[in-house]
Amino acid sequence: MPPAGPDRVVDAERHFDDSIERKAHGLFCNRTLNLRAIQAIGYDMDYTLIHYRMSEWESRAYYYLKSRLLAAGWPVDHLTFNPDLVTRGLIIDKHRGNVVKANRFGYVKHAFHGSKPLGFDEKKATYRQTLVDLAEPRWVFMNTLFSISEACMYMQLVDLLDQNELAQVRAYDDLYDTVRHSLDEAHIEGRLKAEIIANPDRFVELDANMPAALLDQKYAGKKLVLITNSEWGFVAPMMSFVFDRYLPGDMTWSDLFDITIVAARKPDFFSVRMPTFEVVDENGLLNTHVGLLRPGGRYVGGNAGLVEESLGLTGDQIMYVGDHIFADVNVSKSINRWRTALVIRELEDEIRAIEGFRSSERQLTELMIEKERLEARFSDARVRLQRLTNGYADTDESSPEKLETSMAKLRARLVTLDERIAPLAKASTRLLNESWGPLMRTGKDKSHLARQIERYADVYTSRVSNFLHQTPFVYLRAHRGSLPHDKPDEFGAYI
Ligand code: IMP
Ligand code: MG
Repeated sequence: MPPAGPDRVVDAERHFDDSIERKAHGLFCNRTLNLRAIQAIGYDMDYTLIHYRMSEWESRAYYYLKSRLLAAGWPVDHLTFNPDLVTRGLIIDKHRGNVVKANRFGYVKHAFHGSKPLGFDEKKATYRQTLVDLAEPRWVFMNTLFSISEACMYMQLVDLLDQNELAQVRAYDDLYDTVRHSLDEAHIEGRLKAEIIANPDRFVELDANMPAALLDQKYAGKKLVLITNSEWGFVAPMMSFVFDRYLPGDMTWSDLFDITIVAARKPDFFSVRMPTFEVVDENGLLNTHVGLLRPGGRYVGGNAGLVEESLGLTGDQIMYVGDHIFADVNVSKSINRWRTALVIRELEDEIRAIEGFRSSERQLTELMIEKERLEARFSDARVRLQRLTNGYADTDESSPEKLETSMAKLRARLVTLDERIAPLAKASTRLLNESWGPLMRTGKDKSHLARQIERYADVYTSRVSNFLHQTPFVYLRAHRGSLPHDKPDEFGAYI
């Protein structure tokens, strides 16, 4: 373990030589946020302050889920976890046994049935009349990296159900509910967490800059509050593992926080006045607690209203930082009007992949501009031909044959152009994940995930330590944005 002490806070002045890395570690702002005006910052723990190696964690979650199904007599012994089968932000269609990727309007753009992709026509026929509306119970949004094992198992079980190998269930909905319930139990039961605690090196990706980012905020006068759904028995060893080695002097992780709340039961934490218990010793012994939360206190349960009252703050003076799109940012913003920051680690790889594709993207844009030009000329010839043939409008065209020849030539050029466009367009839909493409886009449009983030996260970033590259006093201003009538640049992109 590296020595503790102030010299561990080494990278506070970290600079990125590489512009792509600088971007990958950026703070991105949907809604203008003056960090100076934020008086308290709430932090989620799992996948926010502690980043797990997703494949490691989820493969163990999958293992315990599978063990439960095996114990119930399900024929799943041969199934193996595939972390690349799905990504965060996809949506399970419980009615049809599908996983889909939708654009910002809810139109389904890609779909898998079970573990196999649906062809274009099949997808179109299935979803022609259907828009994804997350308020309907039919759809399950994959809010967090904890969703990966669940979706992977569901897809594989849909295959088995289709092959009539699951006598235990009849419908895709029931199948999903069983998977959900079994994974829930696997998380709660304790063996999974005990494994993580026993071998944190394997599961956790340390970030030496994270504590410095929190210290910057703390010494700038902001109250820090830990609000996690994990239980005390998991929080204490894991936070100690991740933070203590990097903190100055005798400081430990719990000294960072003015209030610590475990087993918070988000999203209900934000909307229901649940009771509070105080953690009175290191073993997690509890006492009932009535009244305001004490500075330095550690609690179980509680609720957002009590946090506001205890700190003497209103919603917009508090920022909550979390990774769960629904439980952390959607609800805290919609109900409590807290300012929100979403941590989305995959963003780093997504930005790298998109930047790496930039010259091809430019080529693609140029080809598309050429395509639009040829299409317009083709349509123009077509309408002239129509007018000439039907004799209903003045036209300076004399012969239909001339127009037909010109259309044939344009058509041939369009075919050649499409042959050049197709591989580039395909490659752009395979960035980050072979089957699903980038998280934030569907084709040229924003993905449903991007829309959720835009609506509920004031800022988003790949990791908490990225706050270190800005100050706790920064005024984060949202971009002017672009509207369809804004002026395109020379490549046709809107600026
Ligand atoms: P947080 O992100 O710090 O609020 O904590 C997330 C907690 O929720 C972790 O303790 C996870 O083990 C737990 N968790 C994640 N997915 C599930 C689930 O499906 N059922 C029950 N607990 C879960
Ligand atoms: Mg979390």
